[in-house]
Amino acid sequence: MTFSPTENAACPVCGAREAQPLQTLRDRLWSRPGVFQMARCQVCSHGFLAVRPTQEGMGAYYEGLYDEVGVGIEEKLQRSVLAQMLNWRRMRALNARRRFRPGARHLDVGCGVSSLLRQLAARGLAAVGLDFEEAACQSQRAYCEGLDVELWRGTLDEAYDSAGGVVDEGRQRFASASMIHYLEHTFTPVEDLRRVYQRLEPGGAIVVEVPSIESFHRSLFQSYWLPYLPPQHISLFSRRSLRRAFKDAGFVGVRVRGASAPFIGLSSFAIWWTWVMGRKSSLSRPVQTLAWPLAFLWGAVVLLGDLGSFWLLAKSGHADHLRVTAVKPR
Ligand SMILES: [Zn+2]
Ligand SMILES: [Zn+2]
Repeated sequence: MTFSPTENAACPVCGAREAQPLQTLRDRLWSRPGVFQMARCQVCSHGFLAVRPTQEGMGAYYEGLYDEVGVGIEEKLQRSVLAQMLNWRRMRALNARRRFRPGARHLDVGCGVSSLLRQLAARGLAAVGLDFEEAACQSQRAYCEGLDVELWRGTLDEAYDSAGGVVDEGRQRFASASMIHYLEHTFTPVEDLRRVYQRLEPGGAIVVEVPSIESFHRSLFQSYWLPYLPPQHISLFSRRSLRRAFKDAGFVGVRVRGASAPFIGLSSFAIWWTWVMGRKSSLSRPVQTLAWPLAFLWGAVVLLGDLGSFWLLAKSGHADHLRVTAVKPR
């Protein structure tokens, strides 16, 4: 992969240029080229890549994600019992804002290969999944065979229009929507929320989940923290910047909660290990040998913390993820 040009960006939520540099980042998972700068907006406290690839250059960082091997791995992870449990909690949060009715239409933006569409259909909803990737849509068609699930490919505007949204506005509106780990990837988070808002019926509700800039693990692991995921993660939201984005998009009754994210601590530790103690280390052998006992001890502490602290981190407001529910006024 060749290096793609970068640009200097303003805050994607409020447009401010006043930002405090937070962390210099490089791709620690696949070692793809590029150096990026995460910054914190001084106006709305949003975390964002102030130095990032251009929109054209970003495509290269998603290549290969959905090749044959990639789809297989993603399907296993995203349809595991654990992933289904997390989706169940998201559905419960959404159902509390807008009761599920049989046949009600639901839109899942950036559905990927997740099990959410199938779980929604099992609850009697008519689910529509939207994704850019043909491979993801194909995988979902096979996975949701025989259920009331429709797949749209492309942008929301185009897909909605070609599904008859313009001529049949009333029938095409959605009672509820979801964006699970989508918003941190987009160059235009507020506009994308507004687009969904426009397609919801009055009283419709949305559930959104994103990584949190206020995470405890982020301060602990610094640039090795998995959800930095540069440069795909353009945005890392704070409670404040999330509330602002939802209000600017038109939503009311915005509720933000910490959401537990299993194994982020352990995955971040594995990344740290690879770069500091393992394969990609620049430390000399004797230094590494001396550091091993300490590193193992730290790993054990992280594992224990990761298994036992979901609840505590979510309660204290320093979980790795934030979950939002909000409604469109009647
Ligand atoms: Zn801002
Ligand atoms: Zn993400």
